[in-house]
Amino acid sequence: MSEFFIATIIAGTIFLLASLVSTLRICRKTSLASWYLLFYFIILFIIGYVGILYYFVSFPIDTMLVSIVACILFGGGAFVFLVIKLSYGSLLSIEKAVEVQRYQAEHDALTGLPNRKMFFKNLAKTLADDTSCSVLFIDLNDFKQVNDTFGHHFGDQLLIATARGIQQNISNYASLYRIGGDEFAVLTTYQSANGLEQCVDIITKVAKQPVEIDEQFINVRLSIGVSHYPQDSVDMHELVRFADLAMYEAKNTKQTLIFYHDKLIQKESNFLLMTTKIQTAIEAGEFLLFYQPVICAKSGEEHGLEALIRWPQPDGSYLSPEYFIKIAERSTLILSLTKWVIFEALNNLPRLYEAGFSGSLHINLSAQDLKSHDFYEFICSLHENDTTITDVLVFEITESAMMTDIKCAREIILALTEKGFQFSIDDFGTGFSSFSLLRELSINQIKIDRSFVSGMLTQKADYAIVKSIVFLAEQLDCSVVAEGVEDYETEQALISLNCDYVQGFYYSRPLPIENLRMNINHFKKSINEFN
Ligand code: C2E
Ligand code: MG
Ligand code: MG
Repeated sequence: MSEFFIATIIAGTIFLLASLVSTLRICRKTSLASWYLLFYFIILFIIGYVGILYYFVSFPIDTMLVSIVACILFGGGAFVFLVIKLSYGSLLSIEKAVEVQRYQAEHDALTGLPNRKMFFKNLAKTLADDTSCSVLFIDLNDFKQVNDTFGHHFGDQLLIATARGIQQNISNYASLYRIGGDEFAVLTTYQSANGLEQCVDIITKVAKQPVEIDEQFINVRLSIGVSHYPQDSVDMHELVRFADLAMYEAKNTKQTLIFYHDKLIQKESNFLLMTTKIQTAIEAGEFLLFYQPVICAKSGEEHGLEALIRWPQPDGSYLSPEYFIKIAERSTLILSLTKWVIFEALNNLPRLYEAGFSGSLHINLSAQDLKSHDFYEFICSLHENDTTITDVLVFEITESAMMTDIKCAREIILALTEKGFQFSIDDFGTGFSSFSLLRELSINQIKIDRSFVSGMLTQKADYAIVKSIVFLAEQLDCSVVAEGVEDYETEQALISLNCDYVQGFYYSRPLPIENLRMNINHFKKSINEFN
C-alpha cells in the first residue's frame, strides 16, 4: 500500500513540475503578476508534496485516510497540470489568431501584397531614416471597363497576374503594395538614379506583355506617376499626393510615365480654382444655353435642337464647354450643370415653340450623371410633374460615358427608356464597345462623330465608316445623325447614303434663343454670317 501512495504523490509532483514549465512560458509571454504568483504557488505546492512524501516515507502509516490523501494530491497535481496546459494552448491559439489578423490587416487578400497601411508605415519609416527614395503610383487603365465587360472574376485574375508580374521582377529593387482597387504603389530606396530607371523599365516591360486569363490574352496599359524624396518634398503626404498627381496626369495625357514637376501642382490649383468659379457661375446664373438645329437630310426641315451650354467670359469670349465640362466632371458639379441645362431647356420650351420649334430637344449627359441615383430621381420628379417631357427630350450620351460604369448606366438608361425617354449615342465611333452597347440597350439614335463626317469626302476610310454606320443604324432600327456638316457636298453625299438627319455649321452654328428661327433658309444663311 505504501508504495502505491508514494508513487501517487510522486506522479502528482511530476504533474506540478510539468505545470511549472508551462507557467513559466506563460509568465514570459504575458508578464502578468498573477501568473508569477501562480508560479510561486506551484513551487510551494511542490515543496508541500515533497514534505508530505518525506513524512510518509519516514513514518509509514498504512490507512485508508492516507490513500485518500495521496489520491487527492495526485488529482490536485493533474488538475493544475491540465488547467495550465489548456491555458497555455489557448494563449498560443489567441496569439496565432492575432498574428493572422495582423497579417490580414496589413496585406491585401486578393493579391497577397502588403496594403495601403503597410505602404504608409514603410514610407514613414524610410523618411524617418532620411533614406532617399522614390514613390511610384501605378494605375491600370480602363480596369473598370474590363471588369464590367468580362466580369469580376476576370478583373480579379487580371489584378493578381499584374501584381505577380511586377512583384517577381522588381523584388530586387523595390517593394510593391496594393493601395486601392486597381492602384498599386512601389517604394524604391535604391540609391542610384539607374535603380529607379531599371524599376520603371521593368514595370513598363511587364505591362507590355499580354496577360493570359481564362485562355484570353489581354493587354494592360499602365499609368505611372513618380515623386522623389527629398527632391520633390520631405513631407510624406505631399510626396504621395505628388505621385498621385503625376499618375493622374499620365492617365489624362495617355502617357505611361510622368515624373512629378511643379507645373502639375499649378494645374491642380487651377483646377480647384476653376471648380470654385464654376460653382459661383452656377449660383450667379452666368451660364447660357445655345441651340443648334438638327435637320432632316431629305426635306431640309428642322427636326430638333441640340442644347449646348455656353459660359460667357468678361472679355466677351466663351469658354469652351469641352474644357469646363471636363473639370465639372472631375467634381460633383457636373450634376448641377446638367440639372441647370435641363431646367433651362424646359423653361425655354414655350419660347422655342413660339419661334416655330416642334421636335426633339437633345440634352447632353455626362458619365457622372449616369452614375448618379440623384440624376435618375431628378428626371423622375420632372416626369411626374409633366409626363409629356418624354415626347420632347432626347438624351445624348457618349460611348465612353456609358462605359465608365456600364452596369449603372445600363440600369439608368433602361429605367428611363421604360418611362418613354429616348437615347442617342453621341460621337459614335470614337469610343469602344459600341456594338455591345447597341445590342444591350434600346438606343433610338446614333450620332456619327464629326471627325468621320468632315473627312468623308477626302478620306476613303472615313467615307466607308460613315456608310457602314448609316447601314448599321438602319438594320438596328435606329435613326442616324451626321454631326459636323460644313458644306453642300458633304450634305449631298450624306443624303445619297440615306442618312436621316444632319447637323453642322452648314445649317447653323449653335445660337442663343433670341437668334433662333426655325427656318432652314435662315440656317443656311447663318453660316455665311458667322464665317
Ligand atoms: P457634342 O455633344 O458632340 O456637340 C457638338 C459639338 O460640335 C458642339 O461643340 C458644336 O458647336 C460643334 N459643332 C457642331 N457643328 C459643327 C461643325 O459643323 N463643325 C465643327 N467644327 N463643330 C461643330 P460645343 O458646343 O463646343 O460642345 C462640345 C462638347 O461639349 C459637346 O459635344 C458635348 O460633348 C459637350 N457639351 C456641350 N454642352 C454640354 C452640356 O450641356 N452638357 C454636357 N454634359 N456636355 C456638353
Ligand atoms: Mg451632343
Ligand atoms: Mg457629338
